[in-house]
Amino acid sequence: MSTFKGSCNCEAVKYQVSGKVQKIVNCHCDLCRKINGSAFSTYIIFLDNDFEILSGELKSHSVSENATKHFCGKCGTPIFNSDPKFSELKIVYFGTLALANELRPDINIYSESELEWVNNINSLPSFKQGIK
Ligand SMILES: [Zn+2]
Ligand SMILES: [Zn+2]
Repeated sequence: MSTFKGSCNCEAVKYQVSGKVQKIVNCHCDLCRKINGSAFSTYIIFLDNDFEILSGELKSHSVSENATKHFCGKCGTPIFNSDPKFSELKIVYFGTLALANELRPDINIYSESELEWVNNINSLPSFKQGIK
């Protein structure tokens, strides 16, 4: 069994997952784009029972009829989404994971809403760091 750790940006919220990754998905749906302000959202899905908050206070906001977004009450980093339709799952924000670079997404979902340029990001000029 594997153990995964993660945290928010201010490190107040820390979590741990003991168990198996169910799936890693890039979600291109309009709701995720809006609630995260990003072109698409990557989630790592675990069994709900495997997920444990170790420290920090989460706040939550209902984002649709079903879904709720849970985020650090101090810094606002999103930690996971919940949805009663998938109550046995924990839909965790991939970027909060330690060692995120050691895992790869498995699938794209809601690709019907994918922004056209997402496929082409490697053709853009790239810089090793930010530019002024
Ligand atoms: Zn925080
Ligand atoms: Zn989505």
